[in-house]
Amino acid sequence: MKDTNDANYDIKFQILSKIREYGTVIISRHKRPDGDATGSTLGLAEIIRETYPEKRVFLDNTDYSEYLSFLGDEGPKPEDADYKNALVIVLDSGSFDRISNPRVSLAAEIIKIDHHIFDASYGNISWVEEERSSVCEMIAEFYYTFRDELTLTKKAAECLYTGMVTDSGRFRFRGTDGNTMRLAGMLLDAGVDYERIFSLLRAEELETLKFDAYLTQKIKLTEHGVAFLRVSRRLRKSRGISLEDASNTVSLMENIKGSLIWIAFIENDDDSVRVRLRSRFVEVQALAAEFGGGGHACASGATVRSRADEELLLSKADALLASYKAAHPDMI
Ligand code: AMP
Repeated sequence: MKDTNDANYDIKFQILSKIREYGTVIISRHKRPDGDATGSTLGLAEIIRETYPEKRVFLDNTDYSEYLSFLGDEGPKPEDADYKNALVIVLDSGSFDRISNPRVSLAAEIIKIDHHIFDASYGNISWVEEERSSVCEMIAEFYYTFRDELTLTKKAAECLYTGMVTDSGRFRFRGTDGNTMRLAGMLLDAGVDYERIFSLLRAEELETLKFDAYLTQKIKLTEHGVAFLRVSRRLRKSRGISLEDASNTVSLMENIKGSLIWIAFIENDDDSVRVRLRSRFVEVQALAAEFGGGGHACASGATVRSRADEELLLSKADALLASYKAAHPDMI
């Protein structure tokens, strides 16, 4: 039954109708997947498979995150021919070029479900809500809206819960609201083993911990307090640290007093540098967009290709923080 207070009911119903209509559904997400991208795709696939066992449901992506492997693998890939009459649902990817699947255009129809600050439209149907704490939250709500028809297993609930906790910074970041907590509660009621999930998300190799301790000492501050660190390819290789663990060092800087913006520069295996921008209160998405990136108000990313661009980005971040502090002297 239609909930007249639900402003998103019509778009969700359009998506449900498309899922009902297609015999083959293929689900993809953004490159370099995080908990939200991985959890939402695996969770939605599980819901569709359990609800409609007669449908062929595939996940199709080209890269994976080792630390999320406990959520399960994607199973067999579709053939090119499977795309011909397929519906593709892309989760958590703001733009077409960030999709971790070069074959999505082969599909009959594409649906975009996302929560990034609007970047570019793609697909035939688009459900985008920038204020949502995660796409997993949107999928959990999608399930809740059509709970009389859809099936939520413990496995699906654990995938969605993982994405909700990771993308919301354990329910701390902007976007977390009463609805987030109610939907998380619904997932807990479905049997989520949160102790196991938190333990798997937090457990680190001792070498990684030592690397973090070393890098913590290398954190620098700009004039107005932007914290930053840089992990060169050489350092990463000499310490035997994965690109993923090196990238996670951005979180070492998240609680420094006065450093409302913090940035990690991570040298990739080619000559490009992954920039991870984080902030509290100050919005950094526009800064990332100036360098060809994007993301969320307080968590964005970009890729740069020269030290000059790194310096420029840092000086712009410093100016942004200076003006924010001038207007908000009480924020720490
Ligand atoms: P990351 O630091 O890679 O975790 O990215 C933070 C947020 O910014 C995520 O939501 C990403 O999807 C987004 N993001 C990262 N890099 C880019 C990029 N080059 N272009 C657009 N969005 C990005």
